[in-house]
Amino acid sequence: MNITNLPVTDFESLTSCNDENGYNGLIAIHNTKLGPAIGGTRFWQYGNEQRAVDDALRLARGMTYKNALADIPFGGGKSIILKSERLTDRETIFRTHGKFVDTFAGRYITAEDVGTTPADMEFVRRETRHVGGLMSGSGDPSPVTARGVFRAMQAAARLRWASDSLAQHSVALQGCGSVGYYLASYLHRAGARLMVTDVDSEKMNRVVQEFNASAVAPEEIYDTGAEIFAPCALGAVINDQTIPRLATKTEIVVGAANNQLLEPRHGDELVSLGILYVPDYAANAGGVINGCRDLLGWDAANATAKVDRIYDTVLNILHIAASDNVATYRAADRLAEQRLEKPS
Ligand code: NAD
Repeated sequence: MNITNLPVTDFESLTSCNDENGYNGLIAIHNTKLGPAIGGTRFWQYGNEQRAVDDALRLARGMTYKNALADIPFGGGKSIILKSERLTDRETIFRTHGKFVDTFAGRYITAEDVGTTPADMEFVRRETRHVGGLMSGSGDPSPVTARGVFRAMQAAARLRWASDSLAQHSVALQGCGSVGYYLASYLHRAGARLMVTDVDSEKMNRVVQEFNASAVAPEEIYDTGAEIFAPCALGAVINDQTIPRLATKTEIVVGAANNQLLEPRHGDELVSLGILYVPDYAANAGGVINGCRDLLGWDAANATAKVDRIYDTVLNILHIAASDNVATYRAADRLAEQRLEKPS
């Protein structure tokens, strides 16, 4: 294994590793002020190494902010394995990756991410103990993520309508996958009126039947006239095309999908239209909080209590946005930066 430290500013380290079998990995550590850096391993085809470096740095920084807002004792990092035709045997790939992770002696802890599975993490585990997201661990994070999104939605409702109750409020849910399904179940129990979509009609029909929801075609989910839009499928869905369509009736945007704003300016546009946007990385932190069961030995009740506090964090963000007169995504960054400056 050849390990090289690459030059980087505003990050603690950026390290690359390659070997004769074609393994080519990167580990970026953004900040460990609050604790060891955690962030998953992405296994993806990038075309060239600079793109992979840019992605690793962007994602590692995002993890610092997400973990600080979630109020868990971890910093931000990320690793990437560059996919190539030479890499075919998953055991070899992920055991090599485990050896690379182990060279950080616990300063970086990995888990699954896009392109990797709990089974891959079991291979990583054979080489290092600094890994979460194992098959034997805390399990599927989606129900917990959904609970956090629901709590974030209640906080937004409190600010907008002076009550946590979502009864009789209409919600347009985009994506009935792992998180969307459980979010729909919370919303149904809370008495919300659900309009749902998915490109996979089986997943959509299950939610329609189990939670008394109305089905909507994927392209029409921006035009339902619902008071709340809940993106739980893809990123970049808040953009120049969708904002005018949502603007007719939407009062709140909150969901699980990562990177919902195509560009930061779209967060400012939502403000100017009077739409309350809950920053995705505040709302969808349930999964990373749930990971503390494996990493810190928390029991399920502890983790749930922490996830429920997403409500307080979101209210805090919305109050900062109002008092500082800034968009909510900027307020979320400010709160994360305060926690990084003065760890509690
Ligand atoms: P998933 O793959 O289980 O579900 C996504 C669903 O969206 C799928 O059913 C898919 O068919 C559907 N979909 C894709 N394109 C669509 C479109 N154009 N219109 C409508 N539906 C579409 O994923 P998930 O685990 O439920 O995660 C949902 C989102 O939340 C992702 O963006 C993910 O990154 C993010 N997230 C998930 C977790 C978690 O714990 N699972 C944690 C944090 C963030």
